[in-house]
Amino acid sequence: MQRKRFSWPVSLGLLAVHVLALAAFFPRFFSWGAVGVALGLWWLTGAFGIALCFHRLLTHRSIAVPKAFEYLAALCGTLALQGDPVEWVATHRLHHAHADKEDDPHDAHRGLLWTHIDWLYLPNDNRPSPQEQIRYAPDLWSQPFYRLLHGRQVAAQVLLGLLLLAAGGWPWVMWGIFVRLVFVYHITWLVNSAAHRWGYRTYATDDLSTNCWWVALLTWGEGWHNNHHAFPSSARHGLRWFEFDPTWLQIRLLQALGLVRQVKLPSAQMLARAARTARAAKAR
Ligand SMILES: [Zn+2]
Ligand SMILES: [Zn+2]
Repeated sequence: MQRKRFSWPVSLGLLAVHVLALAAFFPRFFSWGAVGVALGLWWLTGAFGIALCFHRLLTHRSIAVPKAFEYLAALCGTLALQGDPVEWVATHRLHHAHADKEDDPHDAHRGLLWTHIDWLYLPNDNRPSPQEQIRYAPDLWSQPFYRLLHGRQVAAQVLLGLLLLAAGGWPWVMWGIFVRLVFVYHITWLVNSAAHRWGYRTYATDDLSTNCWWVALLTWGEGWHNNHHAFPSSARHGLRWFEFDPTWLQIRLLQALGLVRQVKLPSAQMLARAARTARAAKAR
């Protein structure tokens, strides 16, 4: 892969978003309505957009939905400002293809700070270039809608900001954009950092992934990450009765409404085989 340099746009952009999120705590920018808007957008962009759409639907195709519904959900994911669908999906597919190995964009062996945030802007040869993004997400690139969103995530965010400004003034912008972005950033990044370090490992996967309950609570179920690395195409990440997985509950609800079909789950044989391998690995 070609050498990737330090990214000034990403580092300065992240710094600005964090500073503006702190400014939101000045009394002139605070209102309970604005906090409600931030919480609503946490669900819309983080739970519906990233966990359900970008991750379980677009990256792993663990469910199928009507095209219009998929595009609406993908727009919500783009509003999390973590990359457009092509970039996000390609990066995450690379992570699974080389999880915690040399070519992983956020190999957990390189330390907690690297997996949490540094990999995004420090020189990182494993971040996919635009050509590599197309190669790793050809199913998305072949659709005009995803090509339209490609590289337009900041424009989409500005548009949302203008809508919030018109509807609720600056408090809605400060909380609905900056506080919400910082919150959803860090909880998403915790899946790469904390859920590759702290927690328990049910399955003997070929990486450092863990099941981390507090990350699962913050990320709508995405913290059951060892289960996910063991069964990447499973629509359900919380596999045991106590592994609370709100995204799975949303999928069940959407299935009952007829919006979700072809839900992929690990078979009883797959679960039994993985459990046997885990027991053998522990006995060694
Ligand atoms: Zn992972
Ligand atoms: Zn995944």
